[in-house]
Amino acid sequence: MPDSSESDLIDGRTLSQAVRDDVQSEIEAWTSDDHRPPFLSAVLVGDNPASEAYVRGKEKDAAEVGIETETHHLDADTSQEGLLDLVYDLNADPSVDGILVQLPLTDNINEQTIIDAVDPSKDVDGFHPENLGRLMRGNPRYIPATPYGIMEMLSRSDIDPEGMDAVIVGRSNIVGKPLANLLLRRTANATVTVCHSRTRDLAAHTRRADLLVAAAGQAAFIDGTMVKEGAVVIDVGINRVEDSSADRGYRLVGDVDSEDVRPRAARITPVPGGVGLMTRAMLLKNTLTAARLRAT
Ligand code: NDP
Repeated sequence: MPDSSESDLIDGRTLSQAVRDDVQSEIEAWTSDDHRPPFLSAVLVGDNPASEAYVRGKEKDAAEVGIETETHHLDADTSQEGLLDLVYDLNADPSVDGILVQLPLTDNINEQTIIDAVDPSKDVDGFHPENLGRLMRGNPRYIPATPYGIMEMLSRSDIDPEGMDAVIVGRSNIVGKPLANLLLRRTANATVTVCHSRTRDLAAHTRRADLLVAAAGQAAFIDGTMVKEGAVVIDVGINRVEDSSADRGYRLVGDVDSEDVRPRAARITPVPGGVGLMTRAMLLKNTLTAARLRAT
């Protein structure tokens, strides 16, 4: 694993801790000003171990900064109507500031229908069409946590995207598309290209990127030949690769072949210890925003 003290690394541990510290101080000020602590309601359907672990992580993160949580754990055979009823109850409950429905959902439930049902003013994931629309229009309320975390990483690392050729590999609704919108805003002013699996000659695009964001979910597929000398490289990917020497039998790698790319990059995020930690921290920030919104 790379040494996080080296200056080319954008260290997600330090940066995400700084975000958490800020959120914690803001919550302390908020509660000492006679407000109740922010309250996040998480919904988990079924018994996907990864989802269970994510929700446990979010509960722990929240508790550390003074956010109260509850988790509704529904059986795997819960119907779409059953889940919708719970979402409507949470929407109507004035003690709930933020609602988080852990994805993916079970096969019998349409994710889009559930995302659309969450009250947009409580949608701390920022996936509701109203929140995505506001983001696209340039006055976001909740920004999806991963792209939000990337923007925060850049600004806390004094990397100004203005005028940069930014190339994003991946066009998902939770990473690539919202990030493209954020980088296009007049506060960021990058020139943005979004690539995907049908892009012809991907390397021709990535090689001219001043800012390269890899969010494709393909283990270590961006190599040194695809990266411009001096680029800033943000590795969003989290991929499991078999590793018999690891306790769990696998290890996590990004979309970037970091050994090959790091010598060419001016700055690079590690995996693990990069964007993933920022994503976790930004959910806390969104939950504080939700509490403030509720109080107005
Ligand atoms: P999706 O599977 O929803 O999207 C992947 C995108 O990458 C698609 O647009 C796809 O193209 C594109 N793509 C896939 N393969 C290639 C390829 N060979 N060349 C070019 N483009 C390609 O993934 P997500 O956006 O949800 O996640 C992306 C990665 O980021 C995953 O590894 C995920 O685990 C990780 N992730 C990490 C987070 C973090 O906090 N660090 C948070 C969220 C995700 P097409 O649209 O044509 O299919």
